[in-house]
Amino acid sequence: MEAVSVRRVMGIETEFGITSTQLDRRGTPLSPMLLSAQVVRAYAAGSAAGDALPTSAGWDYADETPLRDARGFEMARALADRSQLTDVDDPAIANTVLSNGARFYVDHAHPEYSAPEVTSPLAAVRFDRAGELVALRALETLAADGQEVRLYKNNVDGKGASYGTHENYLVPRSVPFDRLARLLIPFLVARPVIAGAGRVGLGQASETPGFQLSQRADYLEAEVGLETTLRRPIVNTRDEPHATPHLHRRLHVIVGDATMADVTTYLAMGSLSLVLRVIETHPELLEGMTLAHPVRSAQVVSHDPSLRATVPLADGRELTGLDLVEAHLQAVEQARDQALASGDERWAEEPGQGSASTDTQTTSQAGTDGVLARWREVVDALRRDPAEAAGQVEWVAKHSLLGRFRQRAGVGWDDPRLAAMDIQWHDLDPARGLAQKLRAAGHLERLVEDEQITTAVTAPPEDTRAWFRGECVRRFGPQGDVRGASWDSVTLLDERRHARRVRIDEPTSGTRAQVGPVLARHTHTATLLGELASEDA
Ligand code: ATP
Ligand code: MG
Ligand code: MG
Repeated sequence: MEAVSVRRVMGIETEFGITSTQLDRRGTPLSPMLLSAQVVRAYAAGSAAGDALPTSAGWDYADETPLRDARGFEMARALADRSQLTDVDDPAIANTVLSNGARFYVDHAHPEYSAPEVTSPLAAVRFDRAGELVALRALETLAADGQEVRLYKNNVDGKGASYGTHENYLVPRSVPFDRLARLLIPFLVARPVIAGAGRVGLGQASETPGFQLSQRADYLEAEVGLETTLRRPIVNTRDEPHATPHLHRRLHVIVGDATMADVTTYLAMGSLSLVLRVIETHPELLEGMTLAHPVRSAQVVSHDPSLRATVPLADGRELTGLDLVEAHLQAVEQARDQALASGDERWAEEPGQGSASTDTQTTSQAGTDGVLARWREVVDALRRDPAEAAGQVEWVAKHSLLGRFRQRAGVGWDDPRLAAMDIQWHDLDPARGLAQKLRAAGHLERLVEDEQITTAVTAPPEDTRAWFRGECVRRFGPQGDVRGASWDSVTLLDERRHARRVRIDEPTSGTRAQVGPVLARHTHTATLLGELASEDA
């Protein structure tokens, strides 16, 4: 399947924090790895036929790296500990594919929802919220079975550990990586000003009392590197495009926060996608923002909710995080104006114009202009008084709520109740989660309706290959004709029950428009495979 698009493909992965009081038969607490496997299995077990691949199928590791095989092995070993789980012998069953095109699996001993590929920041919000519902449904299934498990959409456990939310952006391979890394660093350092989820405590183990903008800043230790869990870099060099390698790179951003506030998620994805567009088309507009000490500056920016602290640039200037965010906004505005004047279609389409019909984007959120308007509005509010952005920017909302409690109680940021409220902010249970309650009460502005989110739990985005993946799961999964899937392939059974891999190297192919008519002609994969190119799996 071929088709190259100029629209930005993106996807968010979320590792959920997990706790439970559950004990095994010997009375010891279940390991997070096993608990996470139970959560993932519970979703498949509790959902309708066609919502997730049956547990005999799963993720196709064929294209993944030896590193990933090692992790699969680690997981297999843990699952094979039959003293804790008696009915599991295949790690693939804790690694499933959903009919919305997402992957729901166990990674680093956390349940992880990897959202399907979408082409706009608003769709990214919708499928990110759908992931919260997927996780909640799994918890409900466990609860019906008498098991109480809690999940948190955050990145720190309050005891020193941090786990990731990864953003993924499709970038042309032709953009030199050193340029990408160099020009991205200042924005990634400053972005928490508009995209941070907020955190109680300074330092990896919250050694110093205080409140900061970002969950991840204190865990950054390098500027550029391959790691995601040790010596974490600002720019991650992992090069697994899950797409035609000579055409594409998948930029893997590991420094961002999991976010519960729609506008925050939207701005995080929208602003970075547009900064990438400037790097691709007008890199000169971002020159001169190089930071003298990026890692240290990430902490300085994060540790200052007043937004007044400055960081040194390589050219000797001193700017605040908000200044840097605004300078990037101006660069995007300038690049957009120049590009539109010269008819550059990469800007006319970016991001998310002309999305499929299920993306009922209101005009105010559609495309480049929607992101720019929001970005400007939030920057101006933060300039006047950070508290003004409490309905849009998650760290501000958290800071306001916890700050009011702190004042009423007359305590410092080291009060343990504040640390507990910070964790509770991210609880996925709507009856407990503080962000969920603010959302429900209308104090956190929403960009997607409940109904759109519910639909996105089972229906894939229509304008990427996630559509083909998800529809195969929905249509052919229940009859056992889908062997597995990966980001760039779906493995189906032919008439002899042999596995055939259908490759979808281009993320914007396999769309409803492209393969909808083909799929509609078949009720079985055996005949469908006759119409699609495939290879032995
Ligand atoms: P890890 O979990 O170890 O970080 P990974 O980054 O490969 O591994 P997955 O959990 O498999 O992660 O998730 C990949 C994410 O990247 C998904 O959210 C998916 O939508 C997105 N994605 C897949 N292919 C592309 C692509 N070519 N460009 C942009 N995003 C992509
Ligand atoms: Mg992942
Ligand atoms: Mg990742």
